[in-house]
Amino acid sequence: MKRQPIVVANWKMNKLPSEAAGYIQTVAPKLADYEQVDAVLAGQDVLLDAMVSAARDTRIEIGAENVYWEDRGAYTGETSPAALADLGIRVVIIGHSERRNYFRETDEMVNLKTLAALRNGLCPIIAIDEAVQLTSENDQAHWIVNQVVESLKGVQEAELSRVMLAYEPTAAIGSGQAMSPEIAQKSLYMIRQTVADMFGQAAADQLRILYGGSVKPTNAYDLLVQPDIDGVLVGDAALDATTFIELVSLASQAKRIAE
Ligand code: PEP
Repeated sequence: MKRQPIVVANWKMNKLPSEAAGYIQTVAPKLADYEQVDAVLAGQDVLLDAMVSAARDTRIEIGAENVYWEDRGAYTGETSPAALADLGIRVVIIGHSERRNYFRETDEMVNLKTLAALRNGLCPIIAIDEAVQLTSENDQAHWIVNQVVESLKGVQEAELSRVMLAYEPTAAIGSGQAMSPEIAQKSLYMIRQTVADMFGQAAADQLRILYGGSVKPTNAYDLLVQPDIDGVLVGDAALDATTFIELVSLASQAKRIAE
């Protein structure tokens, strides 16, 4: 089963609107060499207009880092999925562990946001984390499976092709210590099998699942050659445009070897 590899930069609360265009102008022309890899840049809301403008007529997709679950209304400070779609945003990260841990996002909220994104034509990247407080492998597996099941509740099979999952063990995020490729592969396989139990094997085989957590050029290849790792979600390392291209190039090489 061939799934298009993908590299997603999560800029988090970094960069200024005036910095977005320069990054995109560095990355865009180089992507022509890696047409088999999708490239997504996710930025904070205040950057999105500038990012969409700079990425027009390029292969770069722009993503948001969060969204609310209602389309409109009296929700001061929240971002409407309809407004994101109207701006030209195609992708949105939902349930990042920083949202879950610092802003108390629950599985139920992640599910509502996922359904709202899909209803508005967006492609959600749903982040699945690990619980640092759980020490047994069984409990950890149960935690991961439960997040997958809860986040995908009510998603129709026809919508699943627009969904991506990102396995992001909390301890690996921003720590400089990525998970070992073999252990990450085991978790991603388990996530895919959970989706197979919900939607059937054929649908699960088409779903793109990413790994995130301290990915950098020195470890990206070994992660991306794993059969269930279809792409990477990258924070720190992707703040640099040249490193982002390096990661796209590594994704292209790794997936060509794995074919
Ligand atoms: C992330 O925030 O999604 C992430 C993976 O961050 P980092 O690459 O910095 O660990």
